Amino acid sequence: MNVSERLSQTAKEMPGKDAFIFQGERTTYQAFDTSVTKFASALRDLGYEKGDHVALISGNSPVFMIGLYGALRAGLTVIPVNPTYTSKEMGYILKNGDVKGVITLDVIVSQLDIIDENLKVEHYFVADTGSGINLDAYSISPKMKPFTETVGAGTTEFTPPSLEDDDLAVILYTSGTTGKPKGAMLTHKNIYSNAKDVAAYLEISESDRVIATLPMFHVFCLTVALNAPIVNGGTIIVIPQFSPGEVFAAARDHQATVFAGVPTMYNYLLQTGDGEEDSFKHMRINVSGGSSLPVSLLEAFEEKFKVNVSEGYGLSEASPVTAFNPLDRPRRAGSIGQDITNVKNKVVDELGQEVPVGEVGELVVQGPNVMKGYYKMPEETAVTIKDGWLFTGDMARKDEEGYFYIVDRKKDMILVGGYNVYPREVEEVLYQHPKITEAAVVGEPHPETGEAVIAFVVSEDPSLDEAAVVDYCGQDLAKYKLPRRVEFMEELPKNTTGKILRKNLRDQLSKKS
Ligand code: AMP
Repeated sequence: MNVSERLSQTAKEMPGKDAFIFQGERTTYQAFDTSVTKFASALRDLGYEKGDHVALISGNSPVFMIGLYGALRAGLTVIPVNPTYTSKEMGYILKNGDVKGVITLDVIVSQLDIIDENLKVEHYFVADTGSGINLDAYSISPKMKPFTETVGAGTTEFTPPSLEDDDLAVILYTSGTTGKPKGAMLTHKNIYSNAKDVAAYLEISESDRVIATLPMFHVFCLTVALNAPIVNGGTIIVIPQFSPGEVFAAARDHQATVFAGVPTMYNYLLQTGDGEEDSFKHMRINVSGGSSLPVSLLEAFEEKFKVNVSEGYGLSEASPVTAFNPLDRPRRAGSIGQDITNVKNKVVDELGQEVPVGEVGELVVQGPNVMKGYYKMPEETAVTIKDGWLFTGDMARKDEEGYFYIVDRKKDMILVGGYNVYPREVEEVLYQHPKITEAAVVGEPHPETGEAVIAFVVSEDPSLDEAAVVDYCGQDLAKYKLPRRVEFMEELPKNTTGKILRKNLRDQLSKKS
């Protein structure tokens, strides 16, 4: 079984059920599945064969969804690419990923045109967004095929190639804070098992309406808001780009039952949610993942919208979910929950030995969702997967009942005078301050202590000053953990997934010094 085959089964079981809603328009599972098969057949007719690579560069839309499941049905390996990347970033992935075809939008063509000569791309399948761009003006125009017409010209008389569990489904390029991005190779088994296990764990059913506002190119959206609902016939409410207004409207209009977001989205919804207190009233479950959810934010959100927020954890290399707060017990604030079905999490020391309960070590994971390795990077693969365990690079601890707590990224740890400071611990305190809406903490080289803690905060109150922030932290934190400096910002830098970019903050500090 693979996710595209599963889509066909769902379409057979409930053809008239809405698969997705995009800009008010509903598409049934049958119509969705037909488009997917037609696109797969068109790819075959153009000479695409099992194992060929196609890149998918599009925002959240039916183009992404038909492109993804169509290419998978044709047996191809899909490389989703962040559409906000620069030409250079796209070029690296398309070249490293040996891409033969690109599924994209007319508004992205100008960027692809610049890099084409260094690539081996044979076709660009270009969707019309109504932008009115004259595509004939580009040098790659002979390689272009209109996406919608290509789907329309396909046939439903198509037998998908047989796929093995171990065949590659997607390659996800992880942003990689150091060095070049690495392509995590996920097999059909990886992707399908995580979709099925997440759907079961979250009890996703055909009566669920799931908001897809996280970017679809990111594995969090791919598994939780696309594959998991498709496994059990849920309806996907597609939001092209996150905005609190659109999320509230979609939740209200479609009585949405599942919301998946990163902590910064919860923060935006909380900050802008006055008058929207009832909008989430049908939400059965609100999933948070992608980075740590500050406990004060979680509690404020739950109180305002009268809902539960359940945190989980994952990473691209594990397709992605490995742990989640169980739904049948009260969620534990600050915890990523327990092992999901079929997946094991463990906390280990430098030698790879499991540490006692309560002690901090690196989180390692094992399960059918763990990637095959990094594409064309055997050395990186060998240091990441050891003895069958995936080393996550995240520091964590476990309690007596098997709940895990992420302490922080290993490489974000700050060493002050020989003591470890985890940014998250300081950030948790900063988020409790009533005048602070966003906070991030990084280390800066310091001549006496090795490193010093620097806090970046966002506050709408101009009267808040450094001394007040440091004093506030001093009520809860030991002296060596206190920010040596506080930088006030209008907004913190974030990637398209909404994760706060501590690396950019560190770069900012090093430019200043
Ligand atoms: P990505 O591969 O882009 O999905 O990023 C994976 C990384 O996100 C993990 O290695 C963690 O550092 C971080 N992450 C994901 N979920 C959580 C969470 N609930 N708490 C803390 N960090 C998280």
